[in-house]
Amino acid sequence: MNACTFDAFLKQIVDFSSVQCARLLSALTSRVEKARAADIIQAAVAGRLSCPRCEGKHFYRHGEANGLQRFRCRACGRTCNCLTGTPLARLRHKDKWLDYAHCILESHAVRKAAALLDVDKNTAMRWRHRFLASTKADRPISLHGIAEADETFLLESKKGARSLGRPARKRGGRASKRGVSHEQVCILVARDRTGSTCDFVTGNGPVTTAQLIEHLPPILASDILLVTDANAAYRAFAKKTGISHAFVNLRAGIRVVDDVRGAIHVQNVNAYHSRFHDWLRHFRGVATRYLANYLGWRWAIDQQRIHSSETLLRAAVGVFHS
Ligand SMILES: [Zn+2]
Repeated sequence: MNACTFDAFLKQIVDFSSVQCARLLSALTSRVEKARAADIIQAAVAGRLSCPRCEGKHFYRHGEANGLQRFRCRACGRTCNCLTGTPLARLRHKDKWLDYAHCILESHAVRKAAALLDVDKNTAMRWRHRFLASTKADRPISLHGIAEADETFLLESKKGARSLGRPARKRGGRASKRGVSHEQVCILVARDRTGSTCDFVTGNGPVTTAQLIEHLPPILASDILLVTDANAAYRAFAKKTGISHAFVNLRAGIRVVDDVRGAIHVQNVNAYHSRFHDWLRHFRGVATRYLANYLGWRWAIDQQRIHSSETLLRAAVGVFHS
C-alpha cells in the first residue's frame, strides 16, 4: 500500500463504529503477533539455513509467503523458508504461537490452552508435540566426574492411540500387578554432579545389562565414576565395560557412602525423578510414544534452558542457548 492510500485509510477511522474499531484492533494485534513470531524464528535460524534438497548454504531472496521470507537455493533452485524441515513447518495461526508457547511454559493442560487461544483441542495437542519435538534432541554430549544413574517407571499409556489392544484405563489407572512389570515403561536417567542429565526410555519392564551397554557408554566421559543402587544389572554392566562403578545398598538402609572421590549416593538423580513425576501430574497421563518429548521438556525446564515464550519458539526450530 502506498503512503497516500494508507493516509486516506487512516482518515476513515474516525467514521468506524466501535465494533469496527474492535475488529480492526483484533486484526492488527493478530498481524503484529504473527510478524513477531516470524521475526524471532527468522533471526534464530539466520545463517543456519541449508537447502532441503542439496544442503546448499547460498540463497537468493525470493519474495515472501505466509509472512516469511522465501529463499531460492543458488545451486539447485529449490525454494524454502526458515521453517522448512523443522517441526513447525506448515503449522497455521502463527499469530498464536507465542501465546501457545506461554501455555506450554505454564504447563497448561491441552484443553485449557485450547480454550485460552480459541483453537480446537486437537490443534493444541498437535502443536504441543510439534513445539516440543526438538527438545528431545537437546541433551549434554557427555557426563563427567561422578554420575548417578537410576531408573524410574511409568505405567505404559497408549493415550490417543486408535487401537489399545486391551480395555481402556481411566485417567492413567493402576497396574494390575504389583511392583515393576512389563506394564510399566522404564526411564533410565543419568545425572552428573554439575546437573547435566541424560535420559533414555529403555522399554517395558526392568532395565537390562544389554540396555545399559547400549545407552550409557556413549555419554559417559572417560573420567566417570558411575554411582547406582545395588541393582545387579549395573554391576554386570560395569564389569563388562570396565567403567568405574560404586553402589549404595539402599535395601540395607545405606543411603550415603563417603569415598575419596566424593559422596556416593543417588539422591540427585532420585530428586530429578521426583520433580519429573510431580510435574507430569499436570498432564493427567502422557502417551508413552511422546515420553521422550516430555523428558526433553523437563530437562529444558530443570536447566532453565527455556524460560520465555521466545526461547521456547527458538528451541522449537532446534536453536538452543549453549
Ligand atoms: Zn539446493
